[in-house]
Amino acid sequence: MHTEILVSEVGPRDGLQSIGQIMPTEQKKAWIAAEAAAGVREIEVGSFVPPKLLPQMADTSEIVSFARTIPGLTVAVLVPNLRGAQAAIEAGAHKITLPLSVSESHSLANLRRTHDQIIEESRAIAALIAEQPEDQRPHFEGSLSTVFGCTLEGAIPLPQILRLAERLMDAGCDEVGLSDTTGYADPRAVREMIKAVRGVVGEDALTGIHLHNTRGLGLANVLAALEEGLNTVDSSLGGIGGCPFAPGASGNIVTEDLVFMLQAMGLKTGIDLPRLLEVRKIIEQALSEEPLYGFTPDAGLPLGFTPETVTSAKEAAE
Ligand code: ZN
Repeated sequence: MHTEILVSEVGPRDGLQSIGQIMPTEQKKAWIAAEAAAGVREIEVGSFVPPKLLPQMADTSEIVSFARTIPGLTVAVLVPNLRGAQAAIEAGAHKITLPLSVSESHSLANLRRTHDQIIEESRAIAALIAEQPEDQRPHFEGSLSTVFGCTLEGAIPLPQILRLAERLMDAGCDEVGLSDTTGYADPRAVREMIKAVRGVVGEDALTGIHLHNTRGLGLANVLAALEEGLNTVDSSLGGIGGCPFAPGASGNIVTEDLVFMLQAMGLKTGIDLPRLLEVRKIIEQALSEEPLYGFTPDAGLPLGFTPETVTSAKEAAE
């Protein structure tokens, strides 16, 4: 198991896009700045989708420009297509993720594109990235979504998943990621999927996982992924967004609980946990109607628990 784990905060993208309320730009900035100051090194700050479809993400360019001014922070975004990637590169994103739903029905329903079309899109994005000056090329990840099962098709045949992982790498992705979009994963499935996908793309081309806590298995799945050798885990502060199919369940796994688990296990995250817990106040104020999730924020830290001593991203960059 790796001893240093990268917690990649996705709340400003995955969390905010799932709720009706729109967080004002200034409050998004305050959230991102506060979380970076607590030591979070990577934040997915938004997605470049048409504002007509997702008005919550209309200010993504401005948010990326702002986030880039924070020293030591990797600014990640989601893009559905080449046009989104163009906007992401113009804004200066450090990392671009293109989702490819391994279920073709889900891909057609959500992105209105077949697998072949998404692979073509990823090839065009990789070509666009290659045209950029070498020191300005964003990292490019193809995310295999619904990889643990789809609400329309159920389980997706493994050979189909592996073929798509290979095709994303052939098209020019730097790596692939695993995404449990539907919250179907369990620890054994996580282990088997990591082994199988790494078997075709290699260890270096699969380092991260995106999990939802729909059925309460989020952290168990994280542990399985870490034991299998992954070192990057997506999560969202306060688990915001919730799960539309399962009232009471958070959407993404909760950053606060994830960081608590990692630090309790002696793993390094670079995150100041007491300071991270304070960041919730920003979301509470900005999204008064949204429930926040997480156990650690309510229970507090155990007696005798020594939070990791950390230097802020800013200090680390100096
Ligand atoms: Zn998600």
